[in-house]
Order: sequence, then C-alpha cells, then structure tokens
Amino acid sequence: MCCPTFLPLRGRLIRTNCPRDCYDNCGIVVRAGRDGRVIVSGDPGHPINRGTLCAKCATAYNGVWQDPEARLTTPRRRVGPKGDAAFTPIGWDEALTEIAERTQRIVDDHGPESVLHTHYSGTLSLLAYAFPMRFFHRLGATEVEPDSICNLAGHVAWSSMFGTSVAGFDPRTAVDSSCVVVWGANPSHSAPHMDRHWLGEFPGSVVVVDPVRTDSAARADLHLQPYPGSDAAVAFAILNALQALGAFDRAFISEHVHGAEELISSLGPYTPEWGEQQSGVPASQIRRAAELYAAGPALLWAGQGLQRQPTGANVMRAIGLLPTLTGNIGKPGAGISYLNIAPALMGADFDELAGASLAAAPVPKINHIGLASGLEDPQRFRSLFCWNTNPLASAAEQTRLRAALRRHDLFTVVVDCFATDTADHADIVLPAAGFLEFDDLTFNYMTPIIGAQQQVRSPVGDSFPNQEIFRRLATAMGYTEPELYETDDVLIERLLAQMNVGLSFEELAERGHTYLGDEPLDPFAELRFRTPTGRIEIASEAASNAGLSRLPTPAVDNRPTDGRFRLLSPSSPWQLNNSHGNDPTILRRAGAATVTINPDDAAELGITDGDPVRLSNPAGRLQLHAKVEAMTPRGVLVSHKGRWPKLEPSGRNVNALHEPHSSDIEGCSAVHGTEVTVEVVT
Ligand code: SF4
Repeated sequence: MCCPTFLPLRGRLIRTNCPRDCYDNCGIVVRAGRDGRVIVSGDPGHPINRGTLCAKCATAYNGVWQDPEARLTTPRRRVGPKGDAAFTPIGWDEALTEIAERTQRIVDDHGPESVLHTHYSGTLSLLAYAFPMRFFHRLGATEVEPDSICNLAGHVAWSSMFGTSVAGFDPRTAVDSSCVVVWGANPSHSAPHMDRHWLGEFPGSVVVVDPVRTDSAARADLHLQPYPGSDAAVAFAILNALQALGAFDRAFISEHVHGAEELISSLGPYTPEWGEQQSGVPASQIRRAAELYAAGPALLWAGQGLQRQPTGANVMRAIGLLPTLTGNIGKPGAGISYLNIAPALMGADFDELAGASLAAAPVPKINHIGLASGLEDPQRFRSLFCWNTNPLASAAEQTRLRAALRRHDLFTVVVDCFATDTADHADIVLPAAGFLEFDDLTFNYMTPIIGAQQQVRSPVGDSFPNQEIFRRLATAMGYTEPELYETDDVLIERLLAQMNVGLSFEELAERGHTYLGDEPLDPFAELRFRTPTGRIEIASEAASNAGLSRLPTPAVDNRPTDGRFRLLSPSSPWQLNNSHGNDPTILRRAGAATVTINPDDAAELGITDGDPVRLSNPAGRLQLHAKVEAMTPRGVLVSHKGRWPKLEPSGRNVNALHEPHSSDIEGCSAVHGTEVTVEVVT
C-alpha cells in the first residue's frame, strides 16, 4: 500500500474539529508526522478542550484511522457466504453499476419502500451526516428512525413540555448560576472536557443523579444514587421538598405554566421519606438536593441514558418539573439542556440539507428495535443500505439481527471506513473517507460553536466522503435532480450564510471554530414556548397523543424478581459508541470485557473479582469477567457498550442481551431496562 498524499500541511499546523457523537466537539490541530502520517492533537486555543483530546481519540486518530491496513480502501464484492467476510476488491464503476442495477430491479419489483436504509452518527459533521439523505429521499426508501436507538423518548417528552428539546442553556451562563443538576448523564465518559473544565470549574454546587458512581458523580458536591427506573419518584420527592422550602415561583407559574395547580396539589404524599422508600436515595440527600437547587439560579442537564428505560419519557417530564415550578428558565444562570443543537445550528436549514423535498411521499420509517424483525421478513425488505452506523455492534437482538443479515435474498450495501461486523455481512462494501480527509462543518451539543472540519490529507486508498459516494450512486441510478449533485463548497457556504457566521470557510478554517454570538444565548429569554398554549405544558395533550399520561407521574419500574439484575450498558471511556472499537492500542488498554457487580451481591453469589461469569436472558448469553466494585446499588450490573462483536472471544457484545424493549414512547429503545441472571462459570 502506498503512502497517502498530503495536501496542504507543508510544515504548518492545520486546525480541524472532532465530529464524533460527543458533547465536546473538540478543536484539533494537525501537523505532518513521519512515514506519511499526520499527528493529531488538541487545539490549545479551543475553549472546550484547551489543548487535549480524550484518550480514545488521541489514540485512535493517530492509530487505526490512519492505518491503510485497517481502513477500507477499495470497493469490495462478496465472494463467500454472507457474513464470512470473504470479499474481492472491485472498481468504483463496477460497484456502483451493480448497486444501481440491483436496487432498480428491487424498486421495480417490490417498490422503493422495500429498500431499507439505516444510518446514524458515525461521522457527525453536517454534510457527511445529512447529505446522503437526499439520495434516499429521492429513492423513496424506508428509513430506520435514527434517534429511536438513542434519545427520541426524551425529545418527544421535552418537546411536549417546553415546545422544543433541542434548545437549552448556553454553558457560558454558568457564571450566573449557583447550582447545576446533571441527571442521568456521565460527562466523565461522554463529555470529558466539559466534565473537567466546565463542571470542574463550575462556580456553584454540582449535583449528580445517577445509579452509577461515575467519576463525575464521585467529584460532585452531592450524588443521588437511585435504583434504575425510580428517577421520577426522586423528582417528585425533590418537588415535595422544594414546595416545603417555599421555592415554587408562583408568579412564573401563573404566567407561563399550563396545568401546574393540578400537579402541585398532588405532591403531598411524595415526601423525601417516600422518595427514599421508592428509590433508595436517603431522604436527607433529597432534601439537600432541593436546598441546593432552590438557591438558584439553577441549571438542569438531562442525559440521554436517563430516557433509555421503560418509563423514559415520563422520567424526562418529571425532572422537567424542577425548572418549571421554580421558574429556573429564561434568565441568566438558569435553564435546561438535553441536546442543545438548535442554538448551535441557528438558521441552518436541515430539511434542505437532507433534501426533504425530494421525497415524493412521506418517508416510511421503522424503529431500531424493529430492525432485526423487519429484516427477517422477505416480504418487507429486499435491500439494506447501511451507512454511518454499525448496527451489528449497536442494535438490540444481536443474534437475531446477525441471522437476518445472512438472508441470501437481502441485497446489502455497507458504506464505512472500516470492516465492521455489519460490513462483513454486505454484498457490496464501499469505502468511506475519514474526517481528516474532507472539508465539512461541525457543531456542538451544548455550546453554540461552529467548527471547520478541514481536509488535512488525501482520502485513504480509493475512499470518498459519504456525500460524494451518494452523488455517484445518484448518477448510477440515472437521477437528474440537481440537488443530488450540489458540491461540498456550495453546501458549506450556504450553511455558513444561513447561520450568519460572517466568515467564509477559509476564514473559519483559519480560526478553527467560532461562537455564534458573543454573549450567552438563551432560547427561552422571551419566555415564549412553542407549545399549543404558548406556556410550559405540564398537562399536555401532545403527551397524551403520544401515549403518555396527561400529567407526569412519580411512576417507578417494578424491581427485577427471581434473582435477576438490572443491567446498564453505558459508554466506556474507550469507545465512542463503537467508533475506535478496532484500534489495537485501545483494545489493549481497555482490557477484557467486564461486568461490574456490587460487593454484597458478589458475596451472596460467591463471585470474586476477575471470575468469569455468565449473564443470561431470553435474548442470549454472554460471558464476561466480574469486576467487584461498590459502584452501583445492589441488584444493578454495569457492562460498557461499544465493543466490536467479532473482536470478542464470544463473538458477541453486550447487545446480545438486549431484547427489543420499548420505552413508554412506542418504538424507542429501553435498553437500560434489560434484566439478566448472573452466575459464575465453573
Ligand atoms: S470524542 Fe469527544 S472528547 Fe474525544 S476528541 Fe472527540 S469531541 Fe473530544
């Protein structure tokens, strides 16, 4: 394999930004290295990461992402049985012609909806993430709703309440804040620089609510550690304590809240002592959390893990009552944040970027938890396009999905940078360029920052950026709509103009990033809420229509019985979803897959640290190494997600244990509701 050709480095530093599915969106500097490589490190001038990268990206961006032996470098055609990863390299023309001919035959014989495409957040820069949608809108394919695996229940819940779930506090407002509550998020793994610099330097009190004693929780002023599924009870008990403190903002409520009195009048029974009974969180800690939040102004950061449980949407609405009833919204130092994308993309026309108008009819959709069952059915889907995602590592029902992907009559195309488990099941694999290899724009989940993703080297092998691959596929299909062929330059300049960035791409690239606005943005500053009543809706017809109760409730999940445990599978410090899961240095540092168990549970089951243990449930079985640590309440296990099944001794990862459980919003994954038994392997 020849060395890559370097483009514009010529001895100087180039700025770019990390486009992973991560809150930090770190600034990066790249310089020429030895032996045809570039050296990737953190941008000291970036306000979020201040010169460092997380250990996983610092390793993988200088490792597997630049290794032509690890990257996909040419299109491939399957030559062996499905799933055996036997391929032969072919040229782009041959690959595109075959894909176009077979796809058109399927469309002619079975309709465009028999083509399924699934995608998500592999490369999350704007063009790479959204532009390929134009092709599928034109085709009329069925889409796997991307957010249904990750955060959709939270979006539905907070949209019904606040009118939006993608606009929240600007972290710069922390200077005016006396308290931040981080509920169901683990910034130490999912936002490591926000954790170190923003939470670490937060001027007020930090309260973390999480069943797991994460590093963020351990450093907080107060850690509430409820049993999973009891968050709504904790929220109601804090509300009861806030009411006792006289912390409800009556003027705010009467002017800006719909349905408050009905809820407030029901709070009497939900004392901190009741909350302790339901959740295991001591009543004294519930009262202390209420005191800290009541001191205000206060911020609330809701994590995505929080809503991946059987009553996830109700939980989100329940914790949303804290800012609603105390008036902690629409003023400096106060606010909410879930996925704070709208301010970061102010004015960007996402529908246009994704070519929504190219769809001749409403886009048919399925949810991620229906992926395995959908693909099993030849009457339903005849073809699968999989791009920017690796469902055999990330989706539920892993064993069933693998069998479905082996269907001989399912024509499967995978677009990826690496030979993932999913790519091993393709008929045709197309090599995608990595983020160092093309220009794009990045955005941030919390801070209103736009970044330039700058090309610093030629694409590895014959790979192309996602957007170019789908332009070429459109040509092969004979499509003529000009939107399918817009160039990256045109798209980037239009997005910058829509967002009023006031810089050309070259100017932005020189700086690396820019804030959208000099002062902290507050999307609720005018206290206008895009709900039917124009108020924050505690009582919500939209929620009712989505299958939830009209008001949030203090509902608690039933505890597992018959010796079963609740299994949580959050992010590890070493993988970003499953990105980097094939980097050999990361694999070595992360060590073997483990499951963490509370010492009292371990003693009762005769498990000692390092023992091989087997987790089982109707979805499957998985052997892991026990890690005995007081990190969770009794009855709760933790095993991190993101490992590549084919690199595990068992050929499976933790998703082999995930049944297709839905949250209270139909079709959204409730992965943290998984229950398993655990036994020592003798
Ligand atoms: S994954 Fe997150 S923390 Fe790591 S470099 Fe990228 S943006 Fe920074």
